[in-house]
This record gives sequence, structure tokens and C-alpha cells, in this order.
Amino acid sequence: MCSIIGYYGDSAAAPILVKGLKRMEYRGYDSVGVATKSDNDIVVKKGVGKVEVVNNALHLDNLPGHVGIGHTRWATHGNVTDVNAHPHPSSSGKIAIVHNGIIENYEELKSDLEKRGYSFKSQTDSEVIANLLQYNYDQTHDVKQSMIKTVSKLKGHYAFVAMFESGILSAARFHEPLIIGIGKKGFFLSSDVLGFIEKTDDAIYLDNGELVILDRIGVQIFDFEGNAVKHQVTKVSKEFADAYKGDYAHFTIKEISEQPETIIQAGEKSSDAINTATEFIRHARSIYITGSGTSYNAALVAKYLWQKYAKIKVEPIISSELSFTPETIEPNSILIAISQSGESADVLEAVKIAKKANAKILSIVNILTSSLAQESAVVIGMGCGPEIGVAATKSFTAQLSIIYKIAKKLCDGCINMDGEKISSSVAKVLADHSKIKEIAKELKDVQDIYILGRAVHYPIATESALKLKELSYIHAEGIPGGELKHGPLALMDSSVYVVIINPNDFTYNDTLTSAREIKARGAKIIGISDKPSDIYDHWIQIPTIDDSLYPLIEIIPIQLLSYYSAIEKNTDPDYPRNLAKSVTVK
Ligand code: GLU
Repeated sequence: MCSIIGYYGDSAAAPILVKGLKRMEYRGYDSVGVATKSDNDIVVKKGVGKVEVVNNALHLDNLPGHVGIGHTRWATHGNVTDVNAHPHPSSSGKIAIVHNGIIENYEELKSDLEKRGYSFKSQTDSEVIANLLQYNYDQTHDVKQSMIKTVSKLKGHYAFVAMFESGILSAARFHEPLIIGIGKKGFFLSSDVLGFIEKTDDAIYLDNGELVILDRIGVQIFDFEGNAVKHQVTKVSKEFADAYKGDYAHFTIKEISEQPETIIQAGEKSSDAINTATEFIRHARSIYITGSGTSYNAALVAKYLWQKYAKIKVEPIISSELSFTPETIEPNSILIAISQSGESADVLEAVKIAKKANAKILSIVNILTSSLAQESAVVIGMGCGPEIGVAATKSFTAQLSIIYKIAKKLCDGCINMDGEKISSSVAKVLADHSKIKEIAKELKDVQDIYILGRAVHYPIATESALKLKELSYIHAEGIPGGELKHGPLALMDSSVYVVIINPNDFTYNDTLTSAREIKARGAKIIGISDKPSDIYDHWIQIPTIDDSLYPLIEIIPIQLLSYYSAIEKNTDPDYPRNLAKSVTVK
């Protein structure tokens, strides 16, 4: 969600921290702050707003010193205010911390610390880390011991970096990401490699329950009991350095436009993993597939596809629901977990629950070094490159493409995955945005959009609704075509727009009938189809392709429509309000 960053080295810390935070902006946040250590003081500057705006106002990057910490906050406890922004100093100001996650027992810890004379300024749960650490440091006068004592008391999910008055940095990881960058002139701590990729591609991925100390000696890593831990230095893939917009106005449109390539590349470097996954699926007693948001919509596509073409039953589960229905998972089954970042807390929790029932974990994930990848017996890489736009686009079609590749193996080649054909069909949809731009203008003041699809097109309808909500802030709902007359028809009038996902396949006639029923109630119809009809007020043409492959194509115009609706409404498509790219809190 938010990002944390730390720097210890020979260069001026503040500009490095601000740049790193900017590169991680895509993770979503509401406020920003930096603290550095110079002479014997810790100085903190922070405020509500975008990195650029706060930096222009407060000159975060002018803070002096060669050691510092930085943060972008996505508020969970306490309003979005300057005071609640991180870093949080301890009440004596001798330690400052930045924190990502949630401290569940903060109230109890806080009242204990208040009794001991430590005071609090913010409403956050995070500030308790600063004072608890200060208390433990006041007792022990030792960085390592104070960190160990502190983490032994914290409950919840966290990654935090603490800066001590002496200039030592220390950090701990527990169910939130934290990576160490090893540079020539200094060390970095960051939630994401993008925080330091400009400076170094040598990284150490901390495991859960580990802490690190950065000082003149270098990097020392320990487990939470204080035992030294050795880690390999990993070379971070250079592709992350490509996370620039290039000639595009936004990452979102860049990522939408990359799909003719990314759909084909998806899973290509994981062909062995796809083979192994297929074998597991073929022989499993029960198969579950889970994800959150877009990844759950991809899971629903798997259900329809594998059932139709391979006669294999798979049960989709919304990740955040599994904690409440753990009995769903039968012993010795398979759970396929889908997550772009591999850090989504709900998906990781679902994996934990499934593992308790001895389920084997297969994952479809973009970030191969992520927590999800580490938890999985088989890892299929989406291979679609960094996705920065908060609304998932190319990662969705990469997930679908992998699901198709598995389907093809499961049904011994019955699906014709002609890469060239798919790629050129996607490129055709992307070739001309003019009609979609016109429709987006019309949608600007619309309050409600419904999206209709049958069978495998239903999950595409729900994914379409999600894109419209995220990007255009218009209320949108995906509906299985046949359900129209069981309720939603009551909502149809001339103020409403309905998108009909209607390729010329076995669902075509029934869906056209639904469109007629809607039209009779005065709503406007946008038809996404390879076949024109005078029922459509707007026809968005898609190319004709093998029946089984339409879902890969029909989502593209909706991604474009959502993007251009955001542009029309003058909102930022890359960073929709209140949302975060990688939802690392439950
Ligand atoms: N729970 C903390 C807060 O609300 C940190 C949130 C975050 O991860 O940004 O300040």
C-alpha cells in the first residue's frame, strides 16, 4: 500500500528518498514525509498530498544528512492529516520511524507507554512503534536488543524502518514487504525495488520475521530472536528500470497498449511450471482458485473455461472471504492463487488457510520474488513487466492468457491459441481510439452503467464494471444476461447506459434479446461485438476470432473506455482516489 524507504550512505539522503518515493507512487498513498539525521538531530518534514506537491511546498529533498527515512502513507488508523503522516518521532525525538501495515495491539501498548511518561501526537497505530522502540532503547542502550524487544511486543502486519539519533538505521519485516538494496555508495531499505532501482540492482529480500541493522559495519540481518541470518544478494531484473511512461500520457494507457505483446509473452518463461501445474490440476481431487479484485475475475474465467473445454471443475473463491469460510478447503486439494504483486494480504491469508488444510499452492504472479511466489509449490510468472497503473489491465489479460494455456493443455490442444492471431486482433482494437473517446465524452455525466454478459463473458462483465468504477468513478455493475429480468430491469430508464458484451458465439442471440428488453425501457446500449445490430446506440467492433478466445479481446475496449472516461472527468487514471496498487493490509 504505502511505501517505506531508508538510505544509509555517502550521498545526500533526502533527494534519494524523495526520488525513490516518487517511483513508488503507483502503490497508492495520501500523504508523504521524510526524516534525516544531521549533526545530532533528527529533522522531520511531512504533509498531506502528492510527493511533488508536498516537496514543492516543504522542500523535503533539501533536508541535510546522509542517513534518512521516507514514507508515503495510505491511512488505516487516523485521518489523512499532516500530523498523522509519517515519519513519527518518539516523544523525545531521538528515534523516528516509518511504518507500513497495521499494529493491532497499539491501544494497549500506547496506554502502557503513556503511563511510563511517553507522549503521543498522532492518531496512528504506527506512532506506538517509535515510543516502544524508544522505551526499549532507553532500557538497553542497544539498537539490536531494542529492536528484538520491540518486535516481540508488536501484533499485526508490519514493515518499519527506524532511524536512531546515532545515525544507525534498523528495520523489521513481518507480513509486509521489505527489500534491502546494496549500492556502491550506500544501502537502501524499500518496500519495492523501484525505490532504489536507479542506484543499484543488487538486492536482498528479507524474510518474514527478520530485522536488519545498517551502520558503519555494513548490513547485518537477524531473526526476531537475534540469531544472525545469511542471505544471498539477488540481481533484480533490469526490466523494472523500464517503468517509465515513455511517450504515453499515463502508465495506464501505456500498459493497455502493451497487450498485443504481453498476452503472448504471458507464462512463456514458465512453460515447465505450466506443465507441472497442469499435471497437478489433472490429478487433484478438489481445485480452488482465488484472487482479489481483477484477479478474482480472472479466476472466474478459469472456472468457465476449464469446465467447458476440459471438463474440470474448479471453485473460485474471493480471497478475503476464505478466512470466514476456511472449511471450504478439503484436505489435500489444490489452491491456485492469482496476484499481480504477490503481496496482496488477502491472497496471502487465503494461502495460509489452504496450507493448514494441506492444500498444494500453485500461483500465477507477476513479481517472482514476492511473498506469494515464496509460499507456492509451483509459480507461473505472468511476465508482463512492471504494471504501475493502479487499475490492472495488462496483468488481467496475462492472467487470462495463462489460464488459456493451461486450458489448452488440459483439453489436449482443443483451444487454438494462435499467438499471432490473438496479438493482431488485440492490436486491431487498439488501433483506433476515436469512437471510444466519443463515447467516453457521453459517459462523463452518467451515474450508472450496467454491463451484461453470459457464460464466460460474465466475468468479463464484472471485470469491466471494476475498471469503470476504478477509473471513471461511475457506478458500474456486471450482470449475467439472464439475471436481467430477476431484478436489474427495474433500474433501466433513459439515464442508464448498458454495455452488452456480445461476440458472435453461442451466447449471441440470448444476449441480443436482453439488449432488446433493455432498449424497450429507454436505456442506451453500447454493443461490443463483431456483428453490428441496430439495437446498439454505439457499436464497438471487435475482430472475429475463434469462439473460445473472445474474452481476451472483448475486455480491451472497456479498458480504453474506462481510461478515456477518467480523462474526460479530469481524474488521474494512474492513481485512482482511495485505492492502492498492492493491497498489503487486510
Ligand atoms: N497504519 C499506519 C497509518 O495509518 C500505516 C498505514 C500505511 O501502511 O501507510 O498511519
